[in-house]
Amino acid sequence: MKKIGLIGGMSWESSLEYYRIINEKVHEQLGGFHSAKSVMESVDFAEIEKLQHQNEWNALSRKMVEAAQNLEKADADMVILCTNTMHLCSDAIQKNIHIPFLHIATATGEKIKEKKLDKVLLLGTQFTMEKDFYKDILHKDFGVEVIIPDKKDREIIHKIIYEELVHGKLFAESKEKYLKIIQKSIEKGAQGAILGCTEIPLLIKQKDVKIPVFDTTQIHAEKAVEWALKK
Ligand code: GLU
Repeated sequence: MKKIGLIGGMSWESSLEYYRIINEKVHEQLGGFHSAKSVMESVDFAEIEKLQHQNEWNALSRKMVEAAQNLEKADADMVILCTNTMHLCSDAIQKNIHIPFLHIATATGEKIKEKKLDKVLLLGTQFTMEKDFYKDILHKDFGVEVIIPDKKDREIIHKIIYEELVHGKLFAESKEKYLKIIQKSIEKGAQGAILGCTEIPLLIKQKDVKIPVFDTTQIHAEKAVEWALKK
């Protein structure tokens, strides 16, 4: 079994989910006393969030590269970054390590194609929804058309992530707001919805939505396990 390196802490609420899923999946496949070989480099999210909102992406890239290099030094065989947003720094990470980096949007794109969908809604932070780093992979590598909510709805989604979800606060009224936004996208032709922030799956589940949802936390963690157990 290969050792999974995780960059966590963004937020720790979702890093917990990654840790649970990778261990559950390894146990499901190997049985007995098996659990995942892993190492996590967990950052202080206060530093990250501040730099994000100051648009300091170079400083953020340096932090992500350092975290990935620490995982490499700790004998990780691969790196996964447990947040969609911080994949803005994925080029810098990939250039500065010698072990594979499993991109969350690539893992998600593969799942969308398995379901044969070509038009999906992307929910995430404003960085993820508005910048191109995420949508481009889905579009160029998988031919998927990505739609995003309108500006007001993007603000609502972003605010709920930073004021509630990353603090582990799950409110019914916020869930309703998300479901309303998903419903609007269905009316615009969305065939699926990407839960493109690793905390959103804490709030929204497949059973709440009538189109397929793509839980990026689950998809990404499962991809890491598939890779770790590959002969
Ligand atoms: N975990 C979130 C994501 O997947 C948001 C927190 C962050 O900015 O990293 O985008």
